[in-house]
Amino acid sequence: MAEPLGTGDKDVATHLHSYTNLAALPQTPPLVIVEGDGIHVVDENGRRYLEAMSGLWCASLGFSNKRLAEAGAKALKTLPYYHTFNQRTNVAVADLAERLLALAPVPMARVFFANSGSEANDSAVKMVWYYHNAIGQPERKKIIARRNAYHGVTVAAASMGGLDGNHRDFDLPIATAPARFLHVDCPHHYRYAEPGETEQDFSSRLAQQLEQTILAEGPHTVAAFIAEPVMGAGGVLVPPAGYFEKVQAVLRKYGVLMIADEVICGFGRTGNMFGSTTFGIQPDILSCAKALSSGYVPISAVMVNEKVHSAIAANSGKLGSFGHGYTYSGHPVACAVALETLKVYEDERILDHVRELAPAFQAGLRAFAERPWVGNVRGVGLIGAIELMADKAARTPFAADRKAGYRFAALALEEGLIVRAMGDSIGLCPPLIITRAELDDLFARLARAMDRFEKEY
Ligand code: PMP
Repeated sequence: MAEPLGTGDKDVATHLHSYTNLAALPQTPPLVIVEGDGIHVVDENGRRYLEAMSGLWCASLGFSNKRLAEAGAKALKTLPYYHTFNQRTNVAVADLAERLLALAPVPMARVFFANSGSEANDSAVKMVWYYHNAIGQPERKKIIARRNAYHGVTVAAASMGGLDGNHRDFDLPIATAPARFLHVDCPHHYRYAEPGETEQDFSSRLAQQLEQTILAEGPHTVAAFIAEPVMGAGGVLVPPAGYFEKVQAVLRKYGVLMIADEVICGFGRTGNMFGSTTFGIQPDILSCAKALSSGYVPISAVMVNEKVHSAIAANSGKLGSFGHGYTYSGHPVACAVALETLKVYEDERILDHVRELAPAFQAGLRAFAERPWVGNVRGVGLIGAIELMADKAARTPFAADRKAGYRFAALALEEGLIVRAMGDSIGLCPPLIITRAELDDLFARLARAMDRFEKEY
């Protein structure tokens, strides 16, 4: 009888991977992670890695929180499933909605639940369209996002995203006449500011560009603007000074709704419960996911303010029902785990911890600015990035075929450190529970990876 396949071989033969070079997978077998322990994960050979990306920016309480496991187990034994269609609900979803409204960065009226960041943003788009139909402005359907943005991979979420790899050969942004998804420049001061242009001037220029886009399209056709407080997958882009203040002044002038995509920033990452607070954003709609359950179960949420809610509710009254929702919207197990996650943040004073540790984290990152191949270092709270450059003085990136970012991430992995290469920007987003000693360990590993990278390049 043939030997049973090991996990790696079985996986390569059967599993269609997310975000992976599928053609190369047989030659580059996957890393098989078998367990988690605090901020570390362990592979099938017993090797431990410091997970400095919290998986995909989500496992804010690390990989072995017992309270979350117990909350999930208890919920599974009590009510493993029920739905929220047709006036049905459950205890956990009502408690979680109440808690989220209490935490919201601006007054919000209702919370809708979904399973992923993509679905939350997709739902936000549908609510924006529905809202404008409801208030008798059916022409207002265009959504403006930013180049390099990441809002997920459903058709609408990926259409809003501004990364080429999410569009090319997927026929996205989805083609409609007129186009419903538009993009303006992203606020990457280091890369795109003119020589000598201050952050404030750069922000003014971007706000003007937004205004010109709205005017060119016709303000009566522009429905909403969507932005991540800190752009994550686009390279951890912290907004330049004045950016959101200036952008929101334009949105208010033309009656355009603001959607904050808090999928990464939500729940403490930037040092406040929401990135909207850190950057003075007043969203009409807010999407969140990831750290809502520390990534332990799939759940996301969309909060809407009273203006949006009352119009949606009135319209659904006319139609007989709000025709949107998922089988798993408000799933009792997911909601119970999310609720427990929010309790842990409170009981363990996670926000205080982030604020205490952020200066050391940011200083540790900024120390890398002295390194010969580091062009820019940026971050806020416990999120940051190091951007590699072939020529610092001239700000010349590495040639794409040198795959500098990927190589750096591979070297870090060999040093037992998981980071994320976004082009040549190396992202770090460690679990919020990381201790000072673990932070030192993180930077020691990062420094060893950088030493090796410098020797190679
Ligand atoms: N928005 C942002 C800002 C994200 O970072 C992500 C995921 N990285 C998403 C939306 C999509 O979330 P999901 O992968 O859960 O669909």
